Amino acid sequence: MTIPYTAPLKDLVFTLKVLNLEKILDLPKFEDFSQDLVDSILDEAGKFARDILSPLNLPGHLKGAQWKDGNVTLPDGFKEAYAQFVQNGWNPLPFSPDIGGMGLPWSVTFAIQEIWQAANLSFGLCPVLTQGTIELLAQHGSEKLKALYLPKLVSGAWTGTMNLTEPQAGTDVGAIKTQAVKKGDYYRIKGQKIYISYGDHDLADNIVHMVLARVPGSPEGTKGLSLFLVPKMQVDDQGNITGSNDVHCVSIEHKMGLHCSPTAMLSFGDDEGSKGYLIGEEGQGIQLMFVMMNNARLSVGIQGIGIAERAYQQAYIYANERIQSKALSDPKGPSVPIIAHADVKRMLAEMKSLKEAARGIALMAGSYLDLSTQENEIELVTKYKAYVDFLTPIVKSFGTEVGARVADLGIQIHGGMGFIEETGAAQHFEDVRVTMIYEGTNGVQASDLLFRKTLKDDGKIAHMLLKEIEALAKSVDANAPLAKMAGQLTVSADTVRKAITHIQEASQKDVDLAAAMATPYLNLWAITLGGFVHLKLGLAALQAEDTVYKEKVNLASYYGDRFLVESQSLAGQIFNAAHSLMTL
Ligand SMILES: Cc1cc2nc3c(=O)[nH]c(=O)nc-3n(C[C@H](O)[C@H](O)[C@H](O)COP(=O)(O)OP(=O)(O)OC[C@H]3O[C@@H](n4cnc5c(N)ncnc54)[C@H](O)[C@@H]3O)c2cc1C
Repeated sequence: MTIPYTAPLKDLVFTLKVLNLEKILDLPKFEDFSQDLVDSILDEAGKFARDILSPLNLPGHLKGAQWKDGNVTLPDGFKEAYAQFVQNGWNPLPFSPDIGGMGLPWSVTFAIQEIWQAANLSFGLCPVLTQGTIELLAQHGSEKLKALYLPKLVSGAWTGTMNLTEPQAGTDVGAIKTQAVKKGDYYRIKGQKIYISYGDHDLADNIVHMVLARVPGSPEGTKGLSLFLVPKMQVDDQGNITGSNDVHCVSIEHKMGLHCSPTAMLSFGDDEGSKGYLIGEEGQGIQLMFVMMNNARLSVGIQGIGIAERAYQQAYIYANERIQSKALSDPKGPSVPIIAHADVKRMLAEMKSLKEAARGIALMAGSYLDLSTQENEIELVTKYKAYVDFLTPIVKSFGTEVGARVADLGIQIHGGMGFIEETGAAQHFEDVRVTMIYEGTNGVQASDLLFRKTLKDDGKIAHMLLKEIEALAKSVDANAPLAKMAGQLTVSADTVRKAITHIQEASQKDVDLAAAMATPYLNLWAITLGGFVHLKLGLAALQAEDTVYKEKVNLASYYGDRFLVESQSLAGQIFNAAHSLMTL
C-alpha cells in the first residue's frame, strides 16, 4: 500500500512569503497576481498532484515506458493525465504573456514544480524539458521559428527535449560528432544521440528536439557547436504536421528508476537527413544551450526537493503507525510506534531540516529571478541576475543530494519494508538517484561554482551574498530566541570567507588542487545558505500568529546544532583533505 502525497501548501506559502513574495507581487510585471490567486493556484496544483499524478507513480514505476517498433508508449493513465495537464492550463504558467504564457512569478512556479516532481518524478520531467525549450526558443529563435513552434510548446500540445549526449560525449560536450550540413534555409542533421529524456513518447503529436551538432569545417571542441531545432514531425508554414522528419527512436534504456521517463537513443537522418533549423548563429551552440541548461538545472534541483518532501511524508506516517519495541523510558509499558525511538526521530528531523533548507535555497533563487525583472533598476537587475547564476549550481547539486539522502533515510525508517518495492519508499531513491548525474553531474556543478562563479569575478558576488547572510545573523539580539543559531551562522559564513581566500591562493599555484576543493566548497555554501533560510523562516515564525509555524523556530535551532556545525568539517576538507588528496 502506498501513501498518497499531500502538497505541503502551508510550508510552501510561508516560505514564499518569507522570501519576498509580497514585494514580487507588487512589481508591475506581476500585477495580475494577488496573494489569494497564488494560494488558489497552489491549492489546485495540490489537488491535481494528489488526484491525478500521484496515483500513477508506483504502478507506472512497476510497468515502465515501453518501446515497440520504434515507438514509445507510457503506462496506462499517463496520456490522459498529460492531456488533462494541458487542458487545465498548467503548462503556460511561467511564460511571458507575449508568447501565450500566464506570467506567473518563477518563485511560485518553482513551488508548483516541486508539487509535480513530488507526485510523479517521471511525469514531472516532461514539462521541465518543454519549459527549457520554450525559454531557449523565445530568447534566441528566429521570428519564423517562434511563430511556428512556440504556441504549441507553450500550451503543452507539443513537448521539447535537449539533445547533447552521444556515446563519446557525456560530460565532455565538446566531443559531439552529430553533423549538420547547410541546404538553403535549413540543415540536414545526421548522427546519434543517447539518453534523451522524453526523446520519444505518446503524450503529444510532435516533439521539438533542441540538438547540438557541428557544421563541416567548424573548430574542435565546444566552440564548433551549433544549435538546431529538429522536430520529430515536419510541419508546414501553418504549423500542420506533414510527415516524418527522419528522427528515429532506436531504443529506450532500462534504468534503476525514473521508469516512466523514456530515456531514448535517437538516430537523426538515417535516410535523407533530418531537417534542422539553426538557432542563433553557427558556433553559438553551447552558449545558447546554456539558456536551456541553466533553466533545467534549477528544475532538476527542485526534482530532488520534491522527492525529499515525498519521502519525508511517507516515512513520517510510517513511523507513527509501525509499532515496534518498548520505549526506553517505559520498559514495562506497551510497545510503541517507532517514532518514539530517538534514532527514528533523529532521522525524521534530519530529513525535515534538510528538505526545508534545500527548498528555501531554491525558492530564494526563484525570488531573485523574479526580482531581476524590475525595469529601469539596472543595478538591482544586475545584482539579482548574478545571484541567480551563483545559486544555480548550489540548487542543482544540494537539491539532488538532499533528495537522495532523504530518500535513503526514508528507506531506513521503513526497515525491511523500505527495501520492498510495494511500499514505494525504494522508488523515491531509485527515481531521484539520477538527478545527481544528469544536467551536469554534481562534480561539474561544484567546478562551476568554484571557477566560474567565484574565482572569475574575484569572489565579488560570493562576498555580496556573505554580507547579506552576516547582516541577518547580526540582526538577532544576543538574548533573543535563535541567538545561538545566528552565532553558528556567523561562524559558518566566516568559514566560507576564509575558504574563498584559501581557494584563491591555491588556484594561483595548482589548478587541480583548487578543483579538489570544489565539492566541499559547494557543500559549505549549501550548508551556510541552508542556515540563512532556516534563520529567516525561524525569525518569521516568531512573529507569526499561526502557531503551526512555531515549530520552525525549533527546527532552525536544530539545523544550527546539527548541520551548521558541519561547516568546520567541510573547512577541514578544503584546508587539509584537498591537499592530502593530491598526494594520493
Ligand atoms: C536517465 C538519464 C536521462 C538523461 N537525459 C538526458 C537528456 O535529456 N539529454 C541529454 O543530452 N543527456 C541526458 N542524459 C545524459 C547525462 O546528462 C549524462 O549521463 C551526464 O552528463 C554524464 O555523462 P556520462 O554519463 O557520459 O558520464 P561521464 O562524462 O563519463 O562522467 C562519469 C563521471 O565522471 C565524473 N566526471 C566526468 N567529467 C568530469 C569533470 N569534468 N569534472 C568533474 N567530474 C567529472 C563525474 O562524477 C561523472 O559522474 C541523461 C542521462 C540519464 C542517465
